[in-house]
Amino acid sequence: MNANPTNTFVFDLDGAMVIVVARYDMETTEQRVREKFGEAFLERHRFEVLGHIHYLFPGYFALLRWLHEHGVSLAFFSSGVEERNVPLVEQIMRRAFSDQTEPPPYRVFSRRHCIDTDQLGRLQREEKERYQPCFFGNLKKKLAGVVVPEEALNDTLLIDDDESYMVRGEEYNFVGLRYAYCYTVDDVNTDTFAVFHSAFYVSGLADAMFKLCATEGIRLTTAARRLQYDAEGAELSEAFRFPSRYRESYYLVGRDMLRQVEPDIDFCWPLPVPFESPFACMPKW
Ligand SMILES: [Mg+2]
Repeated sequence: MNANPTNTFVFDLDGAMVIVVARYDMETTEQRVREKFGEAFLERHRFEVLGHIHYLFPGYFALLRWLHEHGVSLAFFSSGVEERNVPLVEQIMRRAFSDQTEPPPYRVFSRRHCIDTDQLGRLQREEKERYQPCFFGNLKKKLAGVVVPEEALNDTLLIDDDESYMVRGEEYNFVGLRYAYCYTVDDVNTDTFAVFHSAFYVSGLADAMFKLCATEGIRLTTAARRLQYDAEGAELSEAFRFPSRYRESYYLVGRDMLRQVEPDIDFCWPLPVPFESPFACMPKW
C-alpha cells in the first residue's frame, strides 16, 4: 500500500495531444488554422521539432497547469523516438508554464521504453499473451515498473487515443480518447468536437475522479473504472469504446475547471446539439 499516494497522469502525444503535419500538407494546414482560429492561436499551438510541424490541441496548456495545481505528477509516453519526444514536451511544458523560470518536474518516455512483444517471439506463447489484454498490439506502454513503481499503479492513468498500447492488468489505468488523424476538419459533429476538445474532456473526467476519490476514499484507477465503465453500464471487452467521452457534461465541467487557470478559455466552436455519440446505435459501444 502506498502510504502517501501521488496521482500521476501519463499523456500520449500523437493523436491525443498533438498532430504532426506531413510536409506536403504544412502550408495548407497553417493557412487553415490561421483562417479558422487566428494568428495568435496559430503561434501558441504550433511547434517545430526536428523540422516537423506539430499542432497542440487547445486546452492542454491549461490542463497541465490545472493538474499540477492539484498535485498531479506529469509524465508523457509516446512510441515516437526520444529525439523528437523530449524537445517537443520541453517546448509544450515551457509554453504551459511560461510565467515561471522553469516548468515543474516531468518525465518523458519513448519508443525505447515500450515493450515490443514481437521481440518475445522466442519465448512461450503464454509469456507473450501475458501482455495482451482484449486489445491486441505489438508495442505496449507498461506503467508498473516502467513509469511508476508497482505500488503506485493504482494512482496512475495513461491518457491515450490508442488502446492497443494497453497492457493486460492495466486496463483500468487507461483513459481512452478518440484518435485524431488531422488537426482541422470541416465536419462539425460530436466526434470532431470530441477529438479537438479532448483536453476539456480529460479535465472534466479528472474533476469527477478527484471528487470520487475524496468522498469515497478510493484510489484514482478505481475512480476511472467507475466513471468510464460502471457509470456507463459497460464492461471491458473488444467492443468497448469509452462511451464517457461522448458525455457533454464532462466538456462543460472541464471548461469550468480550465477557466480556473485560464479565465477566458473556451471551446473553439459551439457544442453540437444534440451531443450524440457516433457509436450510440451500436450495441455495447
Ligand atoms: Mg496516440
